[in-house]
Amino acid sequence: MVMRLSDVTTLRIGGPVDTFIEGSLEDILPKIEGDLLVLGGGSNILAADEGFSGTVVRDSSREVAELGGSQFRVDAGVVWDDFVAYSVDRDLSGLESLSGIPGSVGAAPVQNIGAYGADVAATVVAVRAWDRDINEAVRLSRADLKMAYRDSILKRSARSQKWGPTGRWVILSVDFELVHSAYGFVRYAELAKKLDVPVGGQAKISDIRDAVLGLRRSKGMVLDQTDHDTWSAGSFFTNPVVTRAPDGAPAFQTDGGIKVSAAWLIEQAGFPKGFSMGGQVALSSRHSLAITNRGGGTAHEVLEMARRIRSRVKELYSIELQPEPIFVGCQL
Ligand SMILES: Cc1cc2nc3c(=O)[nH]c(=O)nc-3n(C[C@H](O)[C@H](O)[C@H](O)COP(=O)(O)OP(=O)(O)OC[C@H]3O[C@@H](n4cnc5c(N)ncnc54)[C@H](O)[C@@H]3O)c2cc1C
Repeated sequence: MVMRLSDVTTLRIGGPVDTFIEGSLEDILPKIEGDLLVLGGGSNILAADEGFSGTVVRDSSREVAELGGSQFRVDAGVVWDDFVAYSVDRDLSGLESLSGIPGSVGAAPVQNIGAYGADVAATVVAVRAWDRDINEAVRLSRADLKMAYRDSILKRSARSQKWGPTGRWVILSVDFELVHSAYGFVRYAELAKKLDVPVGGQAKISDIRDAVLGLRRSKGMVLDQTDHDTWSAGSFFTNPVVTRAPDGAPAFQTDGGIKVSAAWLIEQAGFPKGFSMGGQVALSSRHSLAITNRGGGTAHEVLEMARRIRSRVKELYSIELQPEPIFVGCQL
């Protein structure tokens, strides 16, 4: 049977693939020639309707090893939220605010996943990766990975012409350093309000996890196959970092400049939650940053909507929104 990328991506979009292999990355990668797509949960990918004419590899490794102290070595194939649940169950703090993010451990450092005032970079010590340039396994430290807001050397490389939709390095395992504590910090106003603690205060990590999952569900940001608002690649655009925010825009100062709410820009530009151009693709009814498939949607429709939003925001605010997902066989 022909495997289609629509079967393995959360947008449920994408045409046929030439070859699909599932197994241990370390065994498979040395033998691959030609174009490569290493796939985790397919939750940050927009794949072309024409499909992918290379090899798609999915990692079957699922080990979590204790390295001593509060360090863990986690295989790339482990489901991200399973590891978050594992850490919270053992009173290990650090990942609780990242509960409910879809995908795999191996993809987490690629765009330095983040939510509710936390990002994964704070807990990653190093990764073991297959370097496709020299065909060897290498160790990259947190500093080597250059993780920033939804970015790292891995993501930059996955966007380069040279390497295709999977970059030069394929992560085999990630080393995390967590903190032995049943309590964690709450750094995001909406979450703090829900937990009834001040921003910067502490709460039990099990309560933080429950509150984050509740907030995420209310926005359609926890995968649910019966809920079309979750048939997305998460946020389609990142929050732009600018030197001057438009009047009235929710914005806050970061090291790199002023980060402006992309959701606000999109809504102000005339694209409310639920916006549709008449086809099978629409903005989520609960989250204006998520472009969703209502069933039978195509990559072509997603790109059309994304282009329209991007050009209108640029026209009104002179800000060019940057897409968050990785494109496979298509471009914005
Ligand atoms: C409903 C929903 C909510 C989301 N919420 C958030 C959120 O709050 N915060 C956030 O940051 N993201 C969010 N996302 C985006 C997405 O979940 C993350 O980016 C996630 O880390 C992607 O993991 P994945 O395994 O699905 O990666 P995939 O989509 O399978 O792959 C994405 C990219 O990573 C590469 N990749 C995958 N595995 C490896 C590996 N082992 N080594 C090297 N490269 C690899 C792929 O080749 C591809 O380039 C959301 C997505 C959805 C659908």
